[in-house]
Amino acid sequence: MADSAKCSHCSATNENILHALRDCPHSLEIWMRLGMCQHVEFFTTDYVLWLCRFARSDLAVLFLFVVWWIWRWRNEMVLGDGGWSPQTLLMKIRGDVAAQ
Ligand SMILES: [Zn+2]
Repeated sequence: MADSAKCSHCSATNENILHALRDCPHSLEIWMRLGMCQHVEFFTTDYVLWLCRFARSDLAVLFLFVVWWIWRWRNEMVLGDGGWSPQTLLMKIRGDVAAQ
């Protein structure tokens, strides 16, 4: 995360861990394109329960790769050369999942 409390992707005023990994519209696009948002509890839990529940589910491998790559994506935007497109991020995620 950047020095400011604003989200580096969408400029939301309160960037927290759940916003960064799940609720930011840019992160949400990735979750939606991978079909992870179909679970009712996906958006109704705090971040500890969200991480624990999905990291232990039958979707754990995909879930953990998405969390990891969204975090890297955000860091790349703040610290790197401006970040990747959503399509590039999806290719990285799908490549890692296929290699498992
Ligand atoms: Zn955001």
